Amino acid sequence: MDNSIEIDHLSTYFYTEEGAVKAVDDVSFRVPLGQTVCIVGESGCGKSVTAMSIMGLVEEPGGKVISGKIDFSGEDLLKLDKHSLRSIRGNEIAMIFQEPMSSLNPVMKIGEQIMEPLIIHLKMSKKQARTRAIELIEQVGISRPEQIADSYPHELSGGMLQRIMIAIAISCNPKLLIADEPTTALDVTIQAQILDMLRDIKTNSNMSILLITHDLGVVAEMADYVIVMYSGKIVEEGEVVELFERPKHPYTKGLLKSKPIINQRLEELYSIPGQVPNPLDLQESCYFHDRCEQCMSICQTKQPQLQEVGTQQKVACWLYEEAVAHV
Ligand code: SF4
Ligand code: MG
Repeated sequence: MDNSIEIDHLSTYFYTEEGAVKAVDDVSFRVPLGQTVCIVGESGCGKSVTAMSIMGLVEEPGGKVISGKIDFSGEDLLKLDKHSLRSIRGNEIAMIFQEPMSSLNPVMKIGEQIMEPLIIHLKMSKKQARTRAIELIEQVGISRPEQIADSYPHELSGGMLQRIMIAIAISCNPKLLIADEPTTALDVTIQAQILDMLRDIKTNSNMSILLITHDLGVVAEMADYVIVMYSGKIVEEGEVVELFERPKHPYTKGLLKSKPIINQRLEELYSIPGQVPNPLDLQESCYFHDRCEQCMSICQTKQPQLQEVGTQQKVACWLYEEAVAHV
C-alpha cells in the first residue's frame, strides 16, 4: 500500500541545563494512504513532539531533530528549507490542535482566517476565497455560515471553533491531516460529532490522518492502525482490532485495563502504578521496568527492540524476545 508519509528513525532531543531529553528516540512508522494512524500514550511520551517534528515546528535552539528521514511525496521534509516547508504546511499537510484559540487570530474575522490559506496556497481571488470559505463553514456542520464568517473567535463556542479549525485545515485539500488531541477540550457529545465529521471528511476526500491522543475511546473509534509510545519510544504497534483484542506489551495491557469513563480524561484514570521515568535519567533498560509486573532481570539492563510478533504487530518487550532464553 502506498504511504502518505513515512517516518524513518526519527529522533528529536531537547537540550536543558540538566542534559538532553530524548523526547522522540528512534521512531519509525508510516501512514498509509487513506488510513488513520493513532499515536497513543500518556502526556510526555513524545507523541506531540513527533507531530511537531513532522511539521518542522520544533523550536531551536532548545529542541532539535537529531536524525531521521520524513518521506512525504518523495521528498525528505527534514531536508527542506523553511520556505518550502511553509508551502507544504497548511496546504498538503494540515494540522489541528487541542486549543483552537491558540491557532486563531483573536482580532480577525473567522471568514478572513479561512480565506487566508485559500489566497496564499491556492491563489484564489478574495471573492472566490470568500465563497469557498462559506462552503467550508457549511461543510463542517455550522448553520448560518455567512453570519459566522463575520464573527470573531471569541463569539463562538469551543466546539464551533474546532469545526472552524477543521474547515481551515481541509481548505486546501491536504493529503495528510495531523490532529493533536483535537477533541480533548470538548465535551463528549461535541467530541463524538467532531470525530464523526473527521471520519466523513477522510472517507470523502481520501485524506490520511495522523491522530494523536491519550484517549483509547478515540483510538477505538478512529484508528486503522495504532502506535503506542512510552518515554519517547514506540513500545507496541498494530492494527486496531488486533491491538485491542490481543495487546502484547504490559504497558498496552495496562492502558486497556483502565476503562475510560465518559467525559473524563484518561490521564487521570490510569490504573498502572508508578510514573514515567525521569527523561533526564534514562538508563539502558526497558523504560517501563519500574512499573511492570512482569519485569525480569534483563529488563533492567538491556533495552528491548521493536520486533514483529505477528502480521502487522510489533512489540518491544523481552517477554517476546526469543533471545531472552539465551541471555
Ligand atoms: Fe516488562 Fe520487561 Fe517487557 Fe519491559 S521488557 S515491559 S519490563 S517484561
Ligand atoms: Mg501533547
